[in-house]
Amino acid sequence: MYVSVVLFTADLRLHDHPPLRAALDGPRQVVPLFVHDRGVADAGFAAPNRLAFLADCLRDLDAGLRERGGRLVVRSGDVVAEVCKVAAEADADEVHMAADVSAYAQLRERRLRRALEAGGRRLHVHESVTTAVAPGAVTPASSDHFAVFTPYFRQWSGQRLRDVLGAPRSVRVPPGIGSEDLPSRASPAGVSPAVAAGGETAGRRRLTAWLGSGVAAYVDRQDDLAGDATSRLSPHLHFGTVSPVELVHRARRAGGPGAEAFVRQVAWRDFHRQVLAARPAAATADYRTKRDRWRSGRAAGDDIAAWREGRTGYPVVDAAMRQLLHEGWMHNRARLLTASFLAKTLYVDWRIGARHFLELLVDGDVANNQLNWQWVAGTGTDTRPNRVLNPVTQGKRHDPDGAYVRRWVPELRGVAGAAVHEPWKVPDRSRAGLEDYPDPIIDLAAGLARFKQARDRG
Ligand code: FAD
Repeated sequence: MYVSVVLFTADLRLHDHPPLRAALDGPRQVVPLFVHDRGVADAGFAAPNRLAFLADCLRDLDAGLRERGGRLVVRSGDVVAEVCKVAAEADADEVHMAADVSAYAQLRERRLRRALEAGGRRLHVHESVTTAVAPGAVTPASSDHFAVFTPYFRQWSGQRLRDVLGAPRSVRVPPGIGSEDLPSRASPAGVSPAVAAGGETAGRRRLTAWLGSGVAAYVDRQDDLAGDATSRLSPHLHFGTVSPVELVHRARRAGGPGAEAFVRQVAWRDFHRQVLAARPAAATADYRTKRDRWRSGRAAGDDIAAWREGRTGYPVVDAAMRQLLHEGWMHNRARLLTASFLAKTLYVDWRIGARHFLELLVDGDVANNQLNWQWVAGTGTDTRPNRVLNPVTQGKRHDPDGAYVRRWVPELRGVAGAAVHEPWKVPDRSRAGLEDYPDPIIDLAAGLARFKQARDRG
């Protein structure tokens, strides 16, 4: 009997899983393997909120495999060394895994291929597992990737997606392959109080519910901060507990303007992935430098602390930053305006904000986070790189009744309606109970002038 190893990374599911299906092709046994990769932890990427979600994912994956006669093998250490060790223990002749885009993932693939081939084993890397359309599948005539979303989306929409694969009926794992205990959600310290539940079962349930009742109103309610009317599928897409290919097929079948707008948003995810695959350095270096001399370090220390803690004196910014601390998640509109506030109004290095997001976001993702931060900072793919979002105008537009602010900023609960977005205008601050809420840390006009001047200079 031949044996294959399937290395699970950002694809923690059994449905629509090309590496697993390929490994099970023919009379084969399979070792489903997950490695707690030391390299990921050393890079500071093992944030508590994601570890908690990951624990749910691994338990659910193991349960699904057990229902099919198998189990998950979990190891810790250097991912290449561990895969080679397991492949040798199981006498496997091949390893299957999903393609991924970051510099780290690309290096991992190269190292793994070399190490396996040195031992006479083959590595099979599968596309369209962590994306709907593979990076590089569509390119403009003159470049290896698209730098502008609209033409990318046009071509992306015309791609024929592969068919969705069902979950395997049975998985036979060879005996005698040792595994560590599965992690438990309770073990990581520093987890935010309200991190969503992970795992394929939860992800599939959310997708079905979303396509059944949420998506129809997406066009109208996508930016409604208080309504919280987006799919919240981002952690599931990040960990691969929901397949992007299956998601797009099912959303298209659901049909209607809401589903169309939703699919377009999912294409943004593929867009950023194809940028990062072609320009892995964009995770940390400006994609299109504007020669900014960002504020950072001690000079900006108080501003950065106020932003992180949700004490800037701008209610919608503070509400969003507190939601991030509490849930490890934030609405897209809130991410846009908090990032604009840090990078443009406070003129703080976008990498400082991106790092804070990555420390907390349960969907924290190198491609989506870093390239969205660059988009907002005007060093990325935004075709209007110098636009600055005004947090008061944004608050009034996307939280017209102020309910989102009052949900997250208890000091402002005594202020009714949209007045909550300008607490400095409330006539009797002591009566409204506003004494505990900070004054704005910056004058918006002064912040705007500093940014414009910096960009004009650059
Ligand atoms: P929905 O509105 O339901 O959208 C469905 C899916 O489309 C999302 O789950 C996501 O996978 C994708 N998507 C939606 N908007 C975007 C976008 N602007 N760019 C790329 N993909 C998108 N998303 C992450 O998954 N991880 C991150 O680390 C991340 N960091 C961000 C940082 C900043 C500064 C900004 C502005 C955006 C960031 N996003 C990130 C994108 C977006 O905010 C989230 O994907 C979205 O808010 C997740 O909520 P949802 O699943 O309810 O989205």
